[in-house]
Amino acid sequence: MAYKVGVIKGDGIGPEIVNEALKVLDKVSKVYDLDFSYTDILMGGISIDKTGEPLTDEAVKTAKAQDAILMGSIGGNTTTSPWYKLPPEKRPEAGLLRIRKELGLFANLRPAMLYSELKEACPLKQSFIPQGFDLVMVRELTGGLYFGDRETKEIDGKLVAKDTLTYSEDEIRRVAIKAFDIAEKRKKHVTSVDKANVLDSSRLWRKIVEEVARDYPDVRLDHMLVDNTAMQLVKNPGQFDVILTENMFGDILSDEASMISGSLGMLSSASLNETKFGLYEPSGGSAPDIAGKGIANPIATILSAAMMLRFSFDQDKTADSIENAVKQVLKEGYRTIDLISDEHTGVVKRVNTAEMGDLIADRIV
Ligand code: NAD
Repeated sequence: MAYKVGVIKGDGIGPEIVNEALKVLDKVSKVYDLDFSYTDILMGGISIDKTGEPLTDEAVKTAKAQDAILMGSIGGNTTTSPWYKLPPEKRPEAGLLRIRKELGLFANLRPAMLYSELKEACPLKQSFIPQGFDLVMVRELTGGLYFGDRETKEIDGKLVAKDTLTYSEDEIRRVAIKAFDIAEKRKKHVTSVDKANVLDSSRLWRKIVEEVARDYPDVRLDHMLVDNTAMQLVKNPGQFDVILTENMFGDILSDEASMISGSLGMLSSASLNETKFGLYEPSGGSAPDIAGKGIANPIATILSAAMMLRFSFDQDKTADSIENAVKQVLKEGYRTIDLISDEHTGVVKRVNTAEMGDLIADRIV
């Protein structure tokens, strides 16, 4: 099978971690007889430096012609980088917002799991995570408060700011369907998160999610208020399988879920549209503090490539082989610096970015 993969290496550690994911994909293509063709796409700070824009029309056109996009990360140091002296619509992040919109990427998936080998990296008490956890956050990505009308104006001599939170039933239905489809392939449990005791948009959310649930009789649906979910995530994360929620709640809860997983360097993500197309990227940013040192953890990007194989290319077996290779390398004690705590020193084998990529690629069988 042949697949066209757009590659956005981006800024900071982006090129370093994407190169390792490509190394793993090259190994996968040999072992499983798949044919990947890669096309580089400029986005973020590097695009500003080369073209004056964080994402050009040409880059959007190229992105739309691919089967999927694999991305590193974009952006720089937000205090010192000249990119952040530019108006907001010219900054690196504007490229990311535009590409999500242009490609219609309305569903963001972020798995958060605790590898038994990395239990010490989890900030929760071990008694809260007796069986570890393995959940996926499905966040609506193109609606809600972040995309509603907003204004700041003076009323009676005082500044007043207003943001609006709007959801249509279609926007809710399409992301709910994604969440139930994913739950069907997992532990068949969806927790839909809202604030239905206060917000009209949440009451509509709940109604539509219940309608969608009727088409998935083997998937259990629970509703949970967002404030309770924030508590439950640190009290008993093992209770969740798929968490479905709207844009702002998902923004906050997915960072909380990242934190309890240990390192940002382990967390993959996918943004999907109504077709099989998706944009796959690590959950972390461009880490300007460690860029160029060759020490960044490439695992989140490698696991993002595995998600691409699973969700865009229906290659579940090859995705499994990457995930198993990652587990194997961790089991053998190899760690990048972000995964090593004081109590580990001497027990684990420290490796750099390229060595971690080699180790994982070697274990693809
Ligand atoms: P960050 O995620 O880049 O870094 C936070 C901390 O985590 C840093 O100490 C960093 O060294 C560490 N870290 C992150 N990824 C790592 C990895 N793979 N291996 C080891 N350590 C890792 O967040 P930040 O510093 O707040 O943001 C830096 C830049 O990244 C900003 O310009 C921000 O806007 C951008 N950003 C981009 C994306 C994206 O491209 N989707 C997402 C988040 C932030």
